[in-house]
Amino acid sequence: MLQIDRLSHSFKNGSEVTAVLRDISFRVHKGQMVALLGSSGSGKSTLLHLMAGLMKPTEGDILIAGHNIVSMSENRLAEFRRHHIGFIFQAYELLANLTVRENIELPLVFQSVQPSVRRKKALALLEQVGIPEKAELFPSQLSGGQQQRVSIARSLITEPSVIFADEPTGNLDTRTEEEILAILKELNKALDTTFVIVTHEREVAAQTEHILSLRDGYLITERQGFAEASLTGGPAIAIT
Ligand code: ADP
Ligand code: MG
Repeated sequence: MLQIDRLSHSFKNGSEVTAVLRDISFRVHKGQMVALLGSSGSGKSTLLHLMAGLMKPTEGDILIAGHNIVSMSENRLAEFRRHHIGFIFQAYELLANLTVRENIELPLVFQSVQPSVRRKKALALLEQVGIPEKAELFPSQLSGGQQQRVSIARSLITEPSVIFADEPTGNLDTRTEEEILAILKELNKALDTTFVIVTHEREVAAQTEHILSLRDGYLITERQGFAEASLTGGPAIAIT
């Protein structure tokens, strides 16, 4: 479902070049829920943004459902992202002037899906994330945990191949964090959607099936906390 091959990325500021990701390869299979664990500054968000097609890597390939997003044209990539990629942000990023239901429907508005069809799907997802009664409220009338539930529903409405979540529980207290992780796990099982969850917290990563650990831009793979391999490079590591 997701294949990363020899990916490297550097940021340039004038003559200064900062290498952030170094020769990273791995695979995530359909329906897996994987954590990308690393301390602040280790390159997690950069890797997630590259995989979501928000920027182009300096080197390497990113295949999603068999399509190489690195070699796609801008237009094709924008279209591909609308159909295949979901994103969940730490700060929810809901639109304040739209209701909960309208926020969830929004990705389908961009696909010109009929209002009645959009509405039905949005309400079904709202039910799945456990807050069906909030449909006609505005984001400011919801708690942080409830807003993240809305954001999760929005990410799922296009039935994407993979969902990337950047520190999805980073703004939440421990109890709410547990609730959100439970919802993500449930949806992963029920819908067979592939999830990549970025976190700097080992307890959050331990909730997932597999852990990919980043340190200073290098990938160190782990499986349920057992260190398996050290530096990557060479063939992709299949996580099974
Ligand atoms: P994480 O999400 O793991 O905290 P990031 O991917 O945000 O890490 O950042 C990794 C490194 O890349 C950091 O040293 C950061 O300063 C640097 N970095 C991130 N974005 C940029 C940018 N646009 N320009 C220059 N350096 C950047
Ligand atoms: Mg980050």
